[in-house]
Amino acid sequence: MRFISTRGGEPVALEDAIMAGTAPDGGLYVPVELPAFDQQSAPVDAPINDFAAHVLRPFFEGSSLETELESICDEAFNFPAPLRGVQNAPDALSVLELFHGPTAAFKDFGARFLATTMSRIIQQRQTPDSEPATIVVATSGDTGGAVAAAFHRQPGTRVVVLFPEGRVSPRQQHQLTCWGDNIISLAVKGEFDDCQRVAKALFADTESSARFNLCSANSINVGRLLPQSVYYAKTSTDLHAERGEGGRYIVPTGNLGNAFACAWAKSMGFPIEELVLATNANKTIPEYLDSGEWQPRGSIATLASAMDVGNPSNMERLRHLWGDADNLRTRVRAFSVTDEQISAQIRHEFERQGIAWCPHTATGFHVYRHQLGDDDRAGKHWIIAATAHAAKFDEIVEPLVGETVAVPDELARLLEWPAQFATISADPAEVLARLG
Ligand SMILES: *Cc1c(COP(=O)(O)O)cnc(C)c1O
Repeated sequence: MRFISTRGGEPVALEDAIMAGTAPDGGLYVPVELPAFDQQSAPVDAPINDFAAHVLRPFFEGSSLETELESICDEAFNFPAPLRGVQNAPDALSVLELFHGPTAAFKDFGARFLATTMSRIIQQRQTPDSEPATIVVATSGDTGGAVAAAFHRQPGTRVVVLFPEGRVSPRQQHQLTCWGDNIISLAVKGEFDDCQRVAKALFADTESSARFNLCSANSINVGRLLPQSVYYAKTSTDLHAERGEGGRYIVPTGNLGNAFACAWAKSMGFPIEELVLATNANKTIPEYLDSGEWQPRGSIATLASAMDVGNPSNMERLRHLWGDADNLRTRVRAFSVTDEQISAQIRHEFERQGIAWCPHTATGFHVYRHQLGDDDRAGKHWIIAATAHAAKFDEIVEPLVGETVAVPDELARLLEWPAQFATISADPAEVLARLG
């Protein structure tokens, strides 16, 4: 399979799309043609790594990674994405738990898959005297931890994590700084935008970029989206086999990476009946579907901070796939949830289910219980994507539920590792100085 920019131009190989991140014309890579799957041939109740190889095989055809697809999927999909029924829901409701990876958020799926594919490409391309590839990632919290975890000790790679000093939660900071080895963690004096500016300046500096073999791992990389379509394809296939009807998904949404992967799975023929987006107060997408006007803006800080995106980049892919607002409206719905509603929903679900959900997942519960109509719910099986474990957002969740949230084992182990980082000013030269 070859990949092409949403803005046109010449198709490139999978390896080149992954290594480049963004297309040279500023567009985003998408497959030239989506493969079509028929439900009969999809393996039912298969382990997720095997199902991943089934879904991703057409994308790897003709690439240098084709024969390694199974081992890539075994390594990347080494934790489950279970579908669990919700107690005390009026109709059939399940939660798709996407937080069983090393940093307890769904970004582990994309980051691990990107790391396993990138490190293989790097090894294929390496000559005896080439520099290690340096992956630069600017993060407001979650992405950097998932990328660091995924690339930790991957041969031929090192990672520079840039995070805003004092602006990430203590647990997030620990996940950004506990690695050592090939991970360099730098606290930047400034905000997330300053981190991003430094990263962009590094990539734009062609001499340093070539010298240090700089690569990007940001969320618009096609290597992060492909693996995310796997859990939608798999759970909808399993549900369809069980009840003759596929899945209806509510996906907490910021930059639209997770939900777009669901749209891909649907377009590939997996039995996805409906796709509903839940945003926080950053409501560029719901407003677009209502008005037809695309009006991106600066982001507003909310309790569901990983979804604080005012200009969701993957909308360019969604429009490329399904067309403009008039067309999109027939295929996707989107609702915005305020901070007050998020807090109330976390409390309410804890009373009802005895489970504390993270603020992002809470937007999904709010949409299900309060924004869908009775007809939408009656007799239908809905699935809310749970994007992170509540223990990652303990300062928000614990006061609301009045209890300590137990930390999952994997995260607890990380939190015991000693942290180490340097603080720098928002200056690319300070990063370069540390690359040697
Ligand atoms: C990144 C993130 C989101 C938003 O996902 P997008 O792909 O940006 O829409 C939602 N929840 C959590 C916990 C996240 O880390």
